[in-house]
Amino acid sequence: MEAFVWDQNFITGLPEVDRQHHGLVDLFNELNRTLFQGEDTPAEQLEAVFQRLLAYAADHFADEEALMAACSLDDRHVQPHRSVHRQFVEQVRSMWALRSQLRQPSETIMGFLTSWLGLHILGIDQAMARQMASIEGGLDPAQAFELESSHHDHGMQALLKMVGNLYHVLAQQNADLVQANRHLEERVQARTRELAGANDALQAANLQLRALSRTDGLLQIANRPYFDEWLLDEVARARRQSQPLGLLMLDVDFFKRYNDTYGHQAGDACLQAVARAAAGALHRRTDFLARYGGEELVVLLPDTDRDGAMLIAQRVVAAVAGQAIAHAASDAASVVTLSVGVASGLPPPGPLDQAAAALLAQADAALYEAKRSGRNRAVAAPATPAVPTASAAATAATVPTASGAQ
Ligand code: GH3
Ligand code: MG
Ligand code: MG
Repeated sequence: MEAFVWDQNFITGLPEVDRQHHGLVDLFNELNRTLFQGEDTPAEQLEAVFQRLLAYAADHFADEEALMAACSLDDRHVQPHRSVHRQFVEQVRSMWALRSQLRQPSETIMGFLTSWLGLHILGIDQAMARQMASIEGGLDPAQAFELESSHHDHGMQALLKMVGNLYHVLAQQNADLVQANRHLEERVQARTRELAGANDALQAANLQLRALSRTDGLLQIANRPYFDEWLLDEVARARRQSQPLGLLMLDVDFFKRYNDTYGHQAGDACLQAVARAAAGALHRRTDFLARYGGEELVVLLPDTDRDGAMLIAQRVVAAVAGQAIAHAASDAASVVTLSVGVASGLPPPGPLDQAAAALLAQADAALYEAKRSGRNRAVAAPATPAVPTASAAATAATVPTASGAQ
């Protein structure tokens, strides 16, 4: 459909001007078709049609202005006429540049072009043609201008100006709206990023907090609550995989005397050295060292049978003695030593916490035996495939003293 339909009222009677007006109308309609052809019109094609239209309009205005000069039209007509031409070019250029930000770019641009062209030809161009005819009929330019003014009001020109301004405001407001929307989106995005950052920080803080809540402050190893949790997990896993779970219970020998002799602070430092030595004696990533309480430590040894657990226990005993921390008040050696109770087994069926408690009880009984039989050694609980009975603890086997402590 044509956007602009030619009307007899448009004829000015100036052949070249009328021909060019026809040319402009054809180009408007071509731009209209191209604009509404559909989404996939190549941008370059659209741009080419627009640029042709703009160039044609500029040429036409130049011709019209030359014609006005040739006829010596009154300046009171020529000046406003020229400025309307200039404004058209500026306005249509700025609207075209803004069109990607307009909500209905094609409608806005075509609306402006058709209103402008119609009103321009009907109004100022007809006034120009009438003055030219008057001059040809013998009036001088000023008389021709005054005659035109007395017969025709300037309402058309006012309307033309108003339409131009209206479209300009419309385009600008659309562009502002788009801009405001974009800012809003940017702000939402920035806020989302901030929130994501805060969430990450919170998550990191939570992780840190959790790590802190699981760590013993003095020894910087797992604490008792974390060990309790870990033990249940390992019991469950051992049962699932039918693998033995080893457990060592470590207790510093004559530690009360150590404190009494060297002071509580030295006692703290000694415990730290013991924890370091114990940690150094564990080689598997799955081995787990924790403070059980006071000067007692525990080690969980997944997938480790009784012999294996015993070997590691002896390594720990040797490592601590190897630190050679003087302990003048010890009856076991001249240095700080450990006693270790060793237990290992396949967790029996039944509640997890019972199986865990059973393993702990075996290790504890073996530790008691290690203490009783002279300290500075590891003692393994007897191998019991099922839940140990009270007598199992009593029959804990003594294993040769670990070397190193003198
Ligand atoms: P045994 O050879 O039979 O284990 O004798 P022990 O003196 O080591 O045993 P006991 O359980 O009687 O004493 C443990 C001591 O460990 C008592 C306590 O003051 C001390 N202790 C526990 N926790 C800490 C600690 O964090 N720092 C210090 N310096 N001492 C501690
Ligand atoms: Mg103790
Ligand atoms: Mg002790």
